[in-house]
Amino acid sequence: MEAIFNSKYIDQKIFLDQHILPTIQPFHTQHADLIQSLTTKIILKAKEYKTKNPFEKLIHEYDLSSKEGVVLMCLAEALLRIPDVTTMNQLIEDKIPTGQWKEHINKQKDIFVNLSSIAFMFSGKIVDRSEEHETIFHNLMKKMSEPMLRTALKQGINILAKQFVFAENISAANSQASKHADARFNFSFDMLGEAALTLPDARRYFDNYQQAILTTGQNNQRGNSISIKLSALYPRYERNQLDRCLTHLLPSMVTLIELAMKNNVDICFDAEEADRLTLSLMLIEEIFKRKIITPTYRGFGIAVQAYQKRSGAVIQWLDQLCRQYDQPINVRLVKGAYWDTEIKIAQELGFEGYPVFTKKFLTDLNYLYCSHLLHESSKIFPQFATHNAFSISYIHHLFQDKEFEFQKLHGMGDEIYSYFASHDHFRCRVYAPVGGYNDLLPYLVRRLLENGANTSFIHQLKKENSNVSELAHSPLQKIDHINQTPLPSPRAIFPDGRLNSLGVDLSEESNIQIFGALTKSAPSNAFNIVEGQDIPSSTVIDLCSPSNLTQVVGKVHYADQAITTSALEKLVMYSSTWQNYPVDQRCRILNNFADLLEQNYEPLVALCAQEAGKTIKDCLADIREAIDFCRYYSQQAERLFQINSLPGPTGEINEYTLKGKGLSLVISPWNFPIAIFVGQLVANLVCGNVTIAKPAEQSSLTAYQVFRLLLKAGLPANAASLLLGRGEEVCPFILAHPSLENVVFTGSLETAKIIQRNLAQHPKVINLIAETGGLNCLIADSSALTEQVVRDVVQSSFNSAGQRCSACRILLIEENVYAKTLDMLKGAMDCLVVGHPLELKTDMSAVIDQEAFDTIQSHLQQYPQRYQPLLPSSLQGYYIPPTLIEISSLEQMTREVFGPVLHICPYQSHNLKSLCEGINQLGFGLTLGIHSRIDSVINTVTKTCKVGNIYINRNIVGAVVGVQPFGGQGFSGTGPKAGGPEYLSRLCHEYSVSNNTTAMGGNATLLTSITD
Ligand SMILES: Cc1cc2nc3c(=O)[nH]c(=O)nc-3n(C[C@H](O)[C@H](O)[C@H](O)COP(=O)(O)OP(=O)(O)OC[C@H]3O[C@@H](n4cnc5c(N)ncnc54)[C@H](O)[C@@H]3O)c2cc1C
Repeated sequence: MEAIFNSKYIDQKIFLDQHILPTIQPFHTQHADLIQSLTTKIILKAKEYKTKNPFEKLIHEYDLSSKEGVVLMCLAEALLRIPDVTTMNQLIEDKIPTGQWKEHINKQKDIFVNLSSIAFMFSGKIVDRSEEHETIFHNLMKKMSEPMLRTALKQGINILAKQFVFAENISAANSQASKHADARFNFSFDMLGEAALTLPDARRYFDNYQQAILTTGQNNQRGNSISIKLSALYPRYERNQLDRCLTHLLPSMVTLIELAMKNNVDICFDAEEADRLTLSLMLIEEIFKRKIITPTYRGFGIAVQAYQKRSGAVIQWLDQLCRQYDQPINVRLVKGAYWDTEIKIAQELGFEGYPVFTKKFLTDLNYLYCSHLLHESSKIFPQFATHNAFSISYIHHLFQDKEFEFQKLHGMGDEIYSYFASHDHFRCRVYAPVGGYNDLLPYLVRRLLENGANTSFIHQLKKENSNVSELAHSPLQKIDHINQTPLPSPRAIFPDGRLNSLGVDLSEESNIQIFGALTKSAPSNAFNIVEGQDIPSSTVIDLCSPSNLTQVVGKVHYADQAITTSALEKLVMYSSTWQNYPVDQRCRILNNFADLLEQNYEPLVALCAQEAGKTIKDCLADIREAIDFCRYYSQQAERLFQINSLPGPTGEINEYTLKGKGLSLVISPWNFPIAIFVGQLVANLVCGNVTIAKPAEQSSLTAYQVFRLLLKAGLPANAASLLLGRGEEVCPFILAHPSLENVVFTGSLETAKIIQRNLAQHPKVINLIAETGGLNCLIADSSALTEQVVRDVVQSSFNSAGQRCSACRILLIEENVYAKTLDMLKGAMDCLVVGHPLELKTDMSAVIDQEAFDTIQSHLQQYPQRYQPLLPSSLQGYYIPPTLIEISSLEQMTREVFGPVLHICPYQSHNLKSLCEGINQLGFGLTLGIHSRIDSVINTVTKTCKVGNIYINRNIVGAVVGVQPFGGQGFSGTGPKAGGPEYLSRLCHEYSVSNNTTAMGGNATLLTSITD
């Protein structure tokens, strides 16, 4: 599999030159005319094709480049799943009036399209809530027509869905398939349903697949087959859960394969997201190794996505595997259905590249390249799933000497394949989704996207003015476009040139080798650092890992008053030198530091995981955030510390500048032992403030190692000191120091208030930035997708064992979907792995210490009815299982519980406004989530709630520096936001200098610049 691993992020130009072109060019050149001519014929025939389905025309009239197309997709995505009338009406009122339906009415258009547009236009006027329509007559009309409108729209979407859904159940699907007049077509039934989130869901999908195989096998002269999604068979179908996949998922696969063999039904495993690819191949290898498939069975298949750079290597590997075990396999070559998702993931996680091609013509060319590889294989039976005329024509010519089949999606591509109506040897399998509307929505959205996207061949074909010769172009004609408007690499997404921090792809084998092998390191020491030197002291404490109480992670030397005094003296002496240190050099230190952090992922992760109990994934995110802080603040500083000339009367120069204030104290918490520690420290340093860093005692070892890297990056030894120890012992003395100017604190509200009281005694008014906790809520109404809500809530509440100030503490669920959400949430919690943080499979580890453990436990005692999955008895640390507590009102919540504890509470949709006011009354204002498809709901929440960071239809944790500046209000902190544009200026003094240039002999500039 080495070649597969190595090609995930390969440069697409290199791949084109070294693999694709040498393989396809000879054949392409030799057969160019034939291929071109057939492509043109297919297109012309397709253009003549008269669809029987009026909805197809509607889909193309309202494509995704029009606002109305997006409106219809939003309706289609949400309307059918909403159980209550109020929310349904809200969604309709929200979406329909926003469309410009009138513009789609035109004599030349299909009558059905025109009638639909007229209907949408009138509906829009009826449900419009803008003031001009607020008349008694209008309200009456609205009331009378609402039920009709709801029914009509629901039916419309049901019909739209039927365009893509073959049948509601497998018996109906089989009987419909058997009635299909053209014997050259057969079917692959896809049991609708996406990734399972819970074990009961997976069981249900497994039963469906079994039933599908049995029913299809009963009468299968046509050779119909079943398509299977592995993510539906196991909720944790993820590379880092390989062991569990081998124990739980593999047996399900084996059972289905055996059943398929027994019933003589072909099966094909669908291709899903790129990070699951190697896992799927490992499972398949295991099936071959165990000789599950009998040599006579010819029906085992897998889909390969040509938009992935690795697809060629995957085909070669499969061919090799088949030869090794003398076993045939079917390969369904698709281009791929998750392109936009892959791009987003790679950007968010800062990967070194994209796993998919970023130009459509490269996907098309790679499809041809993969076809050649399939052509060369004697063991693989090729199946080409495409609706693209050029791809079809090329394959038609390439495979003159070899058996193969085409495949198409039900509801798409009929026009394309109509060309082959009279070809006897033509074979086509139709991918036929089967299921009820409950399971169809994600599938439907993917199809609408595919039909509506500008890059889609089908979409271009159906455009009224599409040009046949352009449509028939070979993708080779576009290779000069390879560098035109390139998609920025995931590391270069910020337009201002700031580098995105490098992410680690933990689904990749090379990284799994490294990070999966991080071992419990030998205990290390942490010293105070003054003048760049390690200063030992007599108070030395053993630090144990919260995830394994028998493991001493290191010894920490706590600062005493002598060390603190010495640190303060050195810093104060150096203060003016540092203030006047050239800004570009201060910035360079930060950038060097960012690079060093990036080069030290492994040792930092190993230490941080053991000391703070953070999982590997969380540690990596912590370091990435620290890196982003360095690069962001350094970029901000370059802009901020320029001298600004201000306009004024002639004869004076007015300048405005910022300068560091002097001595700062930064006090950082243990829950982000790297990101917050670094963020607060470098923000002060880049402003020219000499700084004392006082990290939480629980994460002293990590802070010490990080600080050493900062010195290595070139920080002058006297610009900052690291003081370790308990806050109450180290800080009071510093807080009283006459030179103190800034205090930056992140931690609990109680400690922030103690610091504030200390500062009140100071003769000066000291600047205090405090970032404290949150009692964060996530509101989900019944238009939201429950699976998405549950996935985001689990991440928001239980990642980092809930020890994030942004974590979701209260989930507010619209009452109509409360029971369903509660059920799914419990199921998803059951699937979480609680364990040692250095194991890649761990989702959640221990809480930080005994005190935290006791506080959380005492909260839990009040709720004997709580829901908690059982923990393995082998764990020896401060482990608390993910916990769910049902509450009946927000008033029950009075304080933040800093751990893996989620409270869930129902609400009624008409109470949304008072719910928001209730959130405000909690007094915190840090993060808030809304899951809804209704803009008016989102607007009500965002306008009413006084919260610093609001997240819509996503999780509520993991704010990105410079993208989601982070910080709250009320009990949650003072602002300015960390990683935001206002942060640095709060640490500086402003200077305004006005120079009267006429004082020495008049205004020479004025007199010489004015002409008569
Ligand atoms: C029978 C069948 C089974 C299928 N099974 C699967 C499956 O298991 N897994 C799966 O993922 N999909 C599957 N699909 C969906 C399939 O991937 C899409 O239908 C297919 O991508 C459309 O390809 P096309 O040749 O018809 O269209 P075309 O319009 O020629 O190509 C569309 C392709 O180009 C890609 N693309 C768009 N823009 C860019 C860009 N800028 N850079 C690079 N590529 C770009 C799209 O993502 C898409 O893959 C299946 C399809 C069929 C017909």
